[in-house]
Amino acid sequence: MKTTHSNNDLLAAMQEAHAEFASCRDGKNASYIPALAEAPPENFGIAAVTVEGEEFAVGDAETPFAIESISKAFNLALAMDVHGPRELRAKIGAEATGEPFNSVIALELHHGKPLTPLVNAGAMAAVSLIPGEHGDEVWERIAGRLELFAGAPLSVNEEVYRSEAETNHHNKGIAWLLKSYGYLYNDPDTTVDLYTRMCSLNVTTKQLALMGASYARGGVNPVTGKRTVQKKCVPEILADMVMEGLYTEAGDWLYANGLPAKSGVGGGIVCVVPGRLALAAYSPPLDSAGNSVRAMRALTRIIRKLGLNPFAC
Ligand code: GLN
Repeated sequence: MKTTHSNNDLLAAMQEAHAEFASCRDGKNASYIPALAEAPPENFGIAAVTVEGEEFAVGDAETPFAIESISKAFNLALAMDVHGPRELRAKIGAEATGEPFNSVIALELHHGKPLTPLVNAGAMAAVSLIPGEHGDEVWERIAGRLELFAGAPLSVNEEVYRSEAETNHHNKGIAWLLKSYGYLYNDPDTTVDLYTRMCSLNVTTKQLALMGASYARGGVNPVTGKRTVQKKCVPEILADMVMEGLYTEAGDWLYANGLPAKSGVGGGIVCVVPGRLALAAYSPPLDSAGNSVRAMRALTRIIRKLGLNPFAC
C-alpha cells in the first residue's frame, strides 16, 4: 500500500525532525581533513525536492559545505553513461565491502578490485574512467555533470581542497595500489587530484536534495527539465547506494529506512525515494562510520513519519 502525503505533511515532518535533533550533541566533525574540523558543528539543514520540482527547506539548508563522498554517487552517472553498467561492474564491481570507505584490506582481499564505486578506491577508479585528453578536460566533464544534477554552477571549496590535498597520503596509496592491480585506468596522481577536487565541491542541502531528485525521477532534473543520466543507469546507481551508500552502516540504514542514500564526511546525506522525491540533510558531526549523526536521525524520522520505507507496505 502506498502511503500518500501532502506537501504540508512533508514540511511539517521536516520541521519536527529539525526541532527534535537540533539539540543533539552526538558525533564529531571529521578531523582527518583539517578544514572539515573547523565547520560549525551546530549547522543543521534539511531539504526536499519532489519529482514535480517542488522544493522545501528547513534550517541551514542554504549553507555551503563540501560534498565529499556524496559526489561519488553522481560522478557514477557520468562513468556509467560512458561505459555502461556491465563494463563498470567488471572494472569496479557492485558489492558491499563491509569495510570502512578508505579500507586497503578490502582491496587486498579481492585482488585489488574495489567492489563498489562508492568507496574511495572504487570512486577513484570511476574518476580514472572519465575520458579526456588531460586532467582539465576530465575535470570539466566531472564538474559539468555534478552541476547538471545541481541545476547550478558549483565551486570548489579551496580551503577544503588544499587541506585534503596536503593530507591525502592514504588515498594516494590506494590509487597506486589500484594501479598495481590493474584497476586504475589513468595516471594515479592525476586521478587522486581530480577525485580530491570533486570531493571539495561546495553544495547546499537544497542543491543536494535537487541532485537526488533527478534519481527519483528516472534521471531527469525536475527543476531544469534536463536529463542528467540515461534512464537505464538509474536502477544500478540506486542499487549501489543501497549496498554501500552509508558504508559499514548501510545495513542499519536499510533496516530502518529501506531506501538508497549516500553520505559524505562533510556532514551531508542524500536519500532517494524513487518516483516520489529526494531528501537531504546536513550537519557536520559524524559517527564512527563517517555518517552525519543528525542527518541520519532526521532523515530516518521523516521517512518513518511519512511512511516512505518501501519495504514497510
Ligand atoms: N574525500 C574524502 C576521502 O577521500 C571522502 C570520504 C567520505 O566522504 N566518506 O576520504
